[in-house]
Amino acid sequence: MTDKNTQSNMINIRGLTFRDITPEEALNTAIGALSGDGKKKTPFVVYTPNAEIAQLCVEDEKIRECILSADMLVQDGAGIVLASKILKKPLRYKIAGIDLGEGIVKYAAASGKKVYFLGAAPANSERKAVALIAEEKLAEKYEGFKLCGWHDGYFKLEMTDEIIKDINDCGTDILFVCLGAPRQELWVKENRDKLNVSLVLGLGGSLDGYAGTVKRAPEFFIKINCEWLYRLIKQPSRFKRMLKLPKYIFGALGERLRGK
Ligand code: UDP
Repeated sequence: MTDKNTQSNMINIRGLTFRDITPEEALNTAIGALSGDGKKKTPFVVYTPNAEIAQLCVEDEKIRECILSADMLVQDGAGIVLASKILKKPLRYKIAGIDLGEGIVKYAAASGKKVYFLGAAPANSERKAVALIAEEKLAEKYEGFKLCGWHDGYFKLEMTDEIIKDINDCGTDILFVCLGAPRQELWVKENRDKLNVSLVLGLGGSLDGYAGTVKRAPEFFIKINCEWLYRLIKQPSRFKRMLKLPKYIFGALGERLRGK
């Protein structure tokens, strides 16, 4: 990562480096990347790994390197916070990527910064593209919010240059990349230098959350740190990948016992 290793509040949890900051501080750091007059040479990149992705990083060095190439990682989920406590390097807050993204949308609506959504399902016979429904729902909450452009997330890799041209031609300041992890992070790493934008956020299934096409867990599940359980009940097909969560936690316990 770029500047962050020099910061005193950095905490390394199982190979990924997080800042022990509040959700507001994370939002302000991301907004800070938008403060220059012109576009930066390369965008400020934010990823929001959860414990599943963090475990994938433990298992796959290439993906770990990719995730670590971000300028800021935020701990999206109770799993990473729990691992940090087990390792006696406690992170105080979990920072939900979906909330961070919404904070950015709120800021963009008020400041006129241009937002582009890349990701989620295209239109089908029953509904519009998820990105457009997300735009509509967010505009109901944040007056004046309007995308400068969007593209669904089911494109052939050969179309990447065309999509990047569209992103740049729209004058995008802020790019949400919502292709699922680690696909979105690998895509950003590959294309970062071609993106003439100030801020890139990898936000997984957030567009579905804003659009309401996938319901977020009720407050109760969030409060007891069991958002993952709600997700599992709603999307049982996630079972296999969710096994990474206990693996990650047991890995932290193992590290602790070995006194690592
Ligand atoms: N997605 C996409 N392109 C793909 C695969 C997935 O745009 O090729 C979208 C999918 O429609 C969903 C999001 O990426 O909106 C991923 O959601 P998921 O819950 O799998 O990701 P996570 O938040 O766990 O990373």
